[in-house]
Parts: sequence; C-alpha cells; structure tokens
Amino acid sequence: MAGYDPKQIEARWQRLWAEEKTWEVANPGQPGFDPEKPKSYVLEMLPYPSGEPHVGHLKCYAVGDAIAHFRRRQGFEVIHPMGYDSFGLPAENNAIKTGEPPRAATERSIESFQRQFREWGISIDWSRELATHTPEYYRWTQWIFLQLLEQGLAYRTEAPVQWCPKDATVLANEQVVDGRCERCGTEVVQRKLEQWFFKTTEYAERLLADFDLLESWPEHVITMQRNWIGRSEGAEVTFRCEEVDLDFPVFTTRPDTLFGATFFVLAPEHPELERLVAGTPAEAAVREYVDRAARESAEERGAEDREKTGVPLGRGVVNPVNGERIPMFVADYVLMEYGTGAIMAVPAHDERDYEFAKAFDLPVRRVIEGEDPDAARDDRGLPYPGDGPMTGSGRFDGKGNREAYAEIVEWLASEARGESAVNYRLRDWLVSRQRYWGAPIPVVYCDACGEEGAPAIVPVPPEQLPVELPEVEDYAPKGRSPLAAAEQWVATECPRCGGPARRETDTMDTFVDSSWYFIRYLDPGNGEAAWERAAADHWLPVDQYIGGVEHAILHLMYARFFTKALADCGVLGVQEPFANLFAQGMITRDGAKMSKSRGNTVSPAEYVERYGADTARTYICFMGPPERDADWVDEGVEGANRFLSRLWRLCEELGEREAGELDPAAAAGDARALLAKAHWAIDKVTRDFQRGFQFNTAIAAVMELVNEAYRLKDGLYGAPEGVAAVRFATATAASLIFPFAPHLGAEIWERLEGGRVWEQPWPVADPALLASDTFPLVVQVNGKLRDRIEAAADASEAELLALARGSEKVARFLDGKQVVKEIVVPGKLVNLVVR
Ligand SMILES: [Zn+2]
Ligand SMILES: [Zn+2]
Repeated sequence: MAGYDPKQIEARWQRLWAEEKTWEVANPGQPGFDPEKPKSYVLEMLPYPSGEPHVGHLKCYAVGDAIAHFRRRQGFEVIHPMGYDSFGLPAENNAIKTGEPPRAATERSIESFQRQFREWGISIDWSRELATHTPEYYRWTQWIFLQLLEQGLAYRTEAPVQWCPKDATVLANEQVVDGRCERCGTEVVQRKLEQWFFKTTEYAERLLADFDLLESWPEHVITMQRNWIGRSEGAEVTFRCEEVDLDFPVFTTRPDTLFGATFFVLAPEHPELERLVAGTPAEAAVREYVDRAARESAEERGAEDREKTGVPLGRGVVNPVNGERIPMFVADYVLMEYGTGAIMAVPAHDERDYEFAKAFDLPVRRVIEGEDPDAARDDRGLPYPGDGPMTGSGRFDGKGNREAYAEIVEWLASEARGESAVNYRLRDWLVSRQRYWGAPIPVVYCDACGEEGAPAIVPVPPEQLPVELPEVEDYAPKGRSPLAAAEQWVATECPRCGGPARRETDTMDTFVDSSWYFIRYLDPGNGEAAWERAAADHWLPVDQYIGGVEHAILHLMYARFFTKALADCGVLGVQEPFANLFAQGMITRDGAKMSKSRGNTVSPAEYVERYGADTARTYICFMGPPERDADWVDEGVEGANRFLSRLWRLCEELGEREAGELDPAAAAGDARALLAKAHWAIDKVTRDFQRGFQFNTAIAAVMELVNEAYRLKDGLYGAPEGVAAVRFATATAASLIFPFAPHLGAEIWERLEGGRVWEQPWPVADPALLASDTFPLVVQVNGKLRDRIEAAADASEAELLALARGSEKVARFLDGKQVVKEIVVPGKLVNLVVR
C-alpha cells in the first residue's frame, strides 16, 4: 500500500481545477449564468504583494475558501475572486534602497502569491484577477476620483498635515500611532501643504446609522468604528473677543455649565492666534509655545495625567450667558482636531480644566451641586463631573442640569449666541501622497483658466484616463512628489483652454485603491466603464467578508464611505459593501507576533512543501476558533498530517474490499453506531459552519468520526454491510473535510463514490440516526445568562466548564476578573462566579 502522498494528489487536482476553470462563475447575461441560483459573494481582503505570502495570508484564504466551498455545496453560486493591493510604500522604499523599480518588485511578488495560491488549492475565479497598480485598474480609480470631485466630495485645501520626516510623506491621522509613523515608527511632525481631501465627514451620520443595515459584524469592530466617528451631542456657543472684533465658536457637550466658565483656551494650531497676539507683549512667548507644541503628538498632548502648560494671551472673551469677560490662553491640551479648536474652560466640572486652573491660579466656580468622591480633588468636592441642581447660574438656579440643558441652548439660539450642535471626531480623509508608487490624481492646474492669480483646477476628462504613472529615475521623496521631477510629464495641455498647464504630482493614498476593488471584481475586463451596473447589482453586497481585525477602522470605513458616495453618484445600488464580516485572529509563534527581526516567522511554502497544502490548511483551521489569536506549533502540524494520513489509509483499505448494500434503517450494532457517528459529524460540522465558522470543533468532529471508524472497522470488515458502513463513514469524512483539505477530500470521494465532491450537495444528517445526545448548556456569569452552547449529553463537568469558559460571549464578562467559584449542574448549566 502506498502511503499518503499529498504532492501527487494535490498536483493532480490543481491541474484539473486550472484546466476546467472549475471556480469561474458567469455574470448576468453571460453564457452559463443561472438566474435561479442564489448568489453568495465570499471575499477575503486582498493581499498587499510584498515578498512572499506569510502565514497570516494562509489563514485568511484557508478560512475564506472553506466558507466558499461550504456555500457552493449548499446550492449557492459563489463568486470568490482574487487580486492584489499592489501600490504602496514597501515597494517604493525598496526601490529607494535598491534602485529596483517598484513595478518589478511588485510584479515578482504577485507571481509568488499567484503560485502559492494555486499550490494551496484556493478555489479562486482567476478570470476576475486584478492588480491595483495596473493602468487598466487605476484608470477607474481616477474615474471615481473625478466622480467625487464632481459631487463636491473631493476638495483641495491648505491644511496642517501629519508629516513623517523619515518617509518624507504626509500621513493620514489614522496612520499616526502614538505620535509616530505607523510604518517606520518615526516621530511625526506637523506641516502645512495644499492637499486633496475626501469629505468623509459628510457621511458621518450615515456611517453610524447604517450599522443597522449590516447582517453580522463583530461587535468590537462596530464599536471601534463608532468611537472613531466619535459622535457627541452638545451646543456650539459663540464667545466674542471685543478687542480684536472676532467671534470664537466653541463646541461643548455641557452647555449646562456655561455659567461656570472662568477662562478660555485655544489650541496652539488655532488659525486666529496670530491675530490675537501679533505686536503684543505675549507674542514671543506664545510663538515659542506653539512651536514646541507642534512637535508633540495629539496623544501625548491629550494624556489625562499630563502636567498642564499654557501661555496667557493678554486678551479676553465675553461669556454670552452672563456678559463676563474671561481671560484667554493657548494650551496644548486643547486639540484643533476636536470641535473648533477652542474651549470654554469650566474648572469646577472638568478634570483637565481644573488642573489648568490650579496650575495658573484661576478661579474655580461651582455651578452644579453634587458629590463624586472619586473625582473630587479638594475639600469643596471639586471637580464634580456629575449631575445635580444648578447654582450660580442666574435664572436657571435650582433646576436639574439635565432639564436646564435644552432651555439654555434654546435661550442661546434666541440671542443668536449659539445653537445645538453635533460634533464628530471623524475628519475628512486626506488622500494626497507625495509619493511615486500610487495612482496619479487626475487633475491639471491652468493659470490661464484661473482667477486672481490662483490657477484653475481642471479635471482630466474621463476619455483621457488613465493619467499614466510616468517612469522616473529617482523615487526618493524630497518634500514633494517624485513625480514633480518628471518635467515632461508634468507639463501638459489644459483640457479646458488648450494652453499650457501642469499636472497634479501627488498620488492617491493606497486606501483609495482598496476602497472599491470588490466592485471591479464583478466586471474586471470592462474597458468602457468601471463596472456594468447589472453585474454590480447582482453580486453586491459582499455576503461574507474575511480579514484581519487591524483593518477594523481604516479600510472598512473607507470602503463603506466609497459605497455610499458611489450610490449617491447613481452608479451603485447598495449602501453597505459588506453584509457580514469575519475578523480572523493573528497567528503567533512562541506566544509572540511573528517578525523577521525576531526570527519567529513561519513560511507557508516550507510547510506546504513538506506536508502538503491540505495539512497546512487543516492545521491552520484547527488551531483554535479562527477569530482568536493562536500560536503556531510544529507538533500541531504533524498532528493534522497524521489525521489526514489516517483518513487516507481508511480509503486505501476500503479499495480492496467488497462493500454490500446497507439500509441505514436496518443497520444494527457497530454498523449502526458508525452510521450514527457519521450523521453526528455531519450535523456537528454543519452547525459549526453556521455558528460563526467554528472550524476547530468542526475538524475535531471529523477526527472523531475517523477514530470511530478505526475503532470499529476490523469488526465490520467481516461482512459486506459492515464494509459499507466503514465506506460511508470514510466518504462522509472526506466530504466534510473537503472545505479544509480540498485535494484529499476530492481524491477520496472520487475513489469511493466516483464523481466530484464539490458537485455534491452538502450532506444532511438523518434525524433518525441523530441520537439526541446534545443539550443546550446554559452559561451564566454571576447568575446572569451570558450564552447558550450545544453540549454533549455525556460531557464531563470539566468538559462543560471548558466549553463555558471558551465562549467568547462569556469571556467578555471574565476579562480582568477572577473566577472565585464554578457551579456545574450536569445536563443543565454552568455558573461562573467572578469578582
Ligand atoms: Zn514613516
Ligand atoms: Zn486652461
């Protein structure tokens, strides 16, 4: 008997899938399109091609592929495309270092990804493949830019930007982590530049409201987005500086504390600072303070425990509620990014204002009664952040502050000194990059068409797209885009007047490329339009999106924004791109994040070469619930390989035996036991797929089935019906393992049953053979119901406890707490008492 030889098996099926184009699907109106079949769009986030695929890629595509196979066999027409997010910094940085053009390095990497995806046996519709760095693709990225420009959703303005001195590029706020460049860790500084923005803020409300349109997204991802959008309700109130004749609007969530304002603070970036202090004694000190603040990050400046610093401006504003003049300061704890960049300071009821008042010896005036011992710092019980009756607030005295809230806002509005307002933390999306390896922004600047000395911004007409990226010699950024050096390219003709004009030399943030790729897959060869509406309408939204949680905010938010904006442009029919989202966990090794410098990386290619793709894929889906982080262990890979080898051996043994007819209803003894086990496994795997892709327990169920077959087979081989039972169990195991180990699953199925397992409907468990051997285990934390989990009727107390503790819903309530007691009522419930 030959042993399990994955090389041979896998090569054979990969060849067949490639030759027969097995996973290609047709669009509406194309030959082979079946309008009766329900569609399912299964999509993993597209890879950024840099070097070789890593093990995180293997996990993402193994998980996505399992879902794609499951859906196909459940009767869906599954679209499962692939592409490459192939513009971006690593290829450009490599070019700067080695002189190799980014295109060459990128395309070499793409070839490596393509080869490995085939070697992993991922069921990709290769006819839809795309790469965002090709002119065929970015032509339409540019077209979308023009659509947004036409809608007023793209605009250009001078703005302070976060600048990475090392990469010499502007960073989006989202790319600044703890004041440092997300890519290289260099401390970020501020600069002013003319920049292109997309008006994401215009969609803030819809981005929040439309969480309701999603079918299933992880709660923590929605929370992260919600916090990022950061909606708060309050009032905009205008304070006036008579001396310079200027109004200073502030946004406050606490208009009920207006009477307690004792000073006024501007952010160091506030545009009117200059006017306030120019030529005054405060000028020099303010300037120095502003320069210093510019070198610090928003996070540092916003830190709660930071010592409060600032400089008095020698000016004052008038508090509109009581006409009182209060002194003005500049202080770095106020951020330009939030609200209007100015605040009214109420030290009696705000922690940071309180600290500032103490540092500068400013009055602290209580306007709300109440006590909060946790927040209080002094013997007057201040600052007090809570609610209570108002005091020192004129005609509002004695009223509850919450009740007075609306009245105060109404009164301000009637005096034209304020109005109710909503503020968002979300900023407009800065899309300009002074970099080479991106899609050129398709506009030109023409002096002749301009007015008042400013050149006109003229969009490149759609028929002139793409604006192709020119070849350059030097990729190093020098504070301007490397494209600026391509003088022949920059000099162009104005599409409006035909006179001389200059091209925009910035390229687009690569997040723009990945904000719409899932639409282009639906019609990738279209040379006339970005997509055909009928194709988009048929396939969208993506039914199941799969990717890393590190994209919870940026990519997912931008793609949602694009979808809404494109719907508003009338070219899309959906409001949300991804109906269901699955966020996979990370793979670590030796408990640490993998990195080249740590030397703990796992090369998927090595493991595939050694054990076969089926083993690597099965192991990666078996490591733990796929949404959790899991640690790569070589023994685990060997275990997965042993399991597949055992399944293979069963198949080989059966090949030599004559199987009889088996009537499941009449089966008895071990034959019945094995059939029952097979149906149990069908039921278990199906349910594990349906409840959030619990692939580890699904694979464990197939392992159990194989073990049961081994335990019973020798006794069963004696009779033809017995052989039939083993054969059924083995074919079922092959069918169930197929989504994870597609080559071996297909091979065994073909040998035992003939035909193609992926054309078989997903098996359905026979209820008659499904002993009711499970029950819904109630899991409580401190007596409160937190989850219900199907548990085996014969599970031990330890197993029930493990099941309860393994629940993610439960884990949330255990986090940071200590379990002091475990109560298990077998067959019923587990209660965890925590403190
Ligand atoms: Zn950097
Ligand atoms: Zn012109």
